[in-house]
Amino acid sequence: MGLLTLMKIYLVSSTDSPEFTRLKCSFARSTVIALDAEWKPQRSSTSSFPIVTLLQVACRLGHDSDDVFLIDLTSIHLPSVWELLNDMFVSPDVLKLGFRFKQDLVYLSSTFTQGGCVGRFNEVKQYMDITSIYNHLQHKRFGRKAPKDIKSLAAICKELLDISLSKELQCSDWSHRPLTEEQKLYAATDAHCLLQIFDVFKSNLVEEITLQDPKHINVGLKDILNGSDFTSKIVTAKLCKAADVIRAMTQNGQNIANGMVSRKTTLNTMPMDENLLKIVRKYGERIMLKESDLLPRISKRKTRRRGASLKNVNTDKHLVCSVDWQGPPPWDSSLGGDGCPKFLLDVMVEGLAKHLRCVGIDAAVPPSKKPDSRELLDQALKEKRVLLTRDTKLLRHQDLAKHQIYRVKSLLKNEQLLEVIETFQLKISENQLMSRCTKCNGKFIQKPLTIEEAIEAAKGFQRIPNCLFNKNLEFWQCMNCHQLYWEGTQYHNAVQKFMDVCKLSE
Ligand SMILES: [Zn+2]
Repeated sequence: MGLLTLMKIYLVSSTDSPEFTRLKCSFARSTVIALDAEWKPQRSSTSSFPIVTLLQVACRLGHDSDDVFLIDLTSIHLPSVWELLNDMFVSPDVLKLGFRFKQDLVYLSSTFTQGGCVGRFNEVKQYMDITSIYNHLQHKRFGRKAPKDIKSLAAICKELLDISLSKELQCSDWSHRPLTEEQKLYAATDAHCLLQIFDVFKSNLVEEITLQDPKHINVGLKDILNGSDFTSKIVTAKLCKAADVIRAMTQNGQNIANGMVSRKTTLNTMPMDENLLKIVRKYGERIMLKESDLLPRISKRKTRRRGASLKNVNTDKHLVCSVDWQGPPPWDSSLGGDGCPKFLLDVMVEGLAKHLRCVGIDAAVPPSKKPDSRELLDQALKEKRVLLTRDTKLLRHQDLAKHQIYRVKSLLKNEQLLEVIETFQLKISENQLMSRCTKCNGKFIQKPLTIEEAIEAAKGFQRIPNCLFNKNLEFWQCMNCHQLYWEGTQYHNAVQKFMDVCKLSE
């Protein structure tokens, strides 16, 4: 890969330090910022979210090196940095990169509230997740049949950048001070690698963009602007396009005087260059926290008591809140998992299993027709799956299988699918649709079959309609039950349906 950017690391422990001044400058001059957070691993069954002790912010400045700030949340005055951070989170002019940052945002919000802040972090605009970036790259390389595995950040870094992230340090005590040099380097690299993964993605796309539209070859405008000091801001504002000014006005209600875009926030940012703007418009997402995301856990004792009296509607509502998923799931890398979501569905949510398989998620059902709760839990534990159920009786076993059971609240299959996708923050992309056998949960063989191969493979147990014979179709076969699938009308309808359900934009 070769072109790795260097980083300068700054530890920010107070607001009256040169490092903090540097942080503010870098925020103002960066159009891409990568985020990560560390907290002390929580093992006991405490009733609140983990306290975030370190927030890492990597700023792309367009120099030879990027600035990486390690904001020490155990010592800095939280109310003094809340606004600065929140402005950056919601700024339409800054692309934010993260790896499943929603969970970090929940914990950050809780940490800042406990640190005396009135406001919370409810939203991150112009966000891109490294998982979707990785999936786009895979899609480009392998086409529709790209490998479907959901990878850990460490695996993605290794593959794209040849950087190894230490697992040992990831699980080290992030509340201990002072941080060791290894911890600092690890923490900084964790955020900085996101910028570099984005570089790989961007260089892939820029080729495409410039090929499509030769007008948009950007001759280092951003570099020129980023190179000089803050007086360049006036030049920047004059150069920024009318469309950007209008965009800025409508989004924030700003005043524009003498060609200067002035904003009433702590953050005065640079406009994005055109290529970046295109990327953000096409791929930018938004993280929104709902009230329920910010609810801390309620003690297990209460869950159990309420589970016993289900008839009262109000009580049921409380039960629903108290069993909200708090993670991490057993496949999480913090628990030594491989990052691939795996579910086990009991008979009450059997229909959901097919829906999950349709979007490429591993969704098993128990081998026996009438398993008892012990068998279900054993299988979930053994195969590191989360048991999905609507059976409130099963929740009594939560002591035995912590983070291993989730009660599905929705009644309709489509809504259940959405609920599970949102609760577990599953990333579903179009190329994941129909990558798994809906009959048995098996995976398809790697290479699609030709019609001749398919006819041969189908002999004796499945009829392939004659009308398919002279069409140039691809067939897939389940590795497990050998069922054949093809890209017919049914397939397209199913893809469309699930794209609608999952609100996939493409
Ligand atoms: Zn199958």
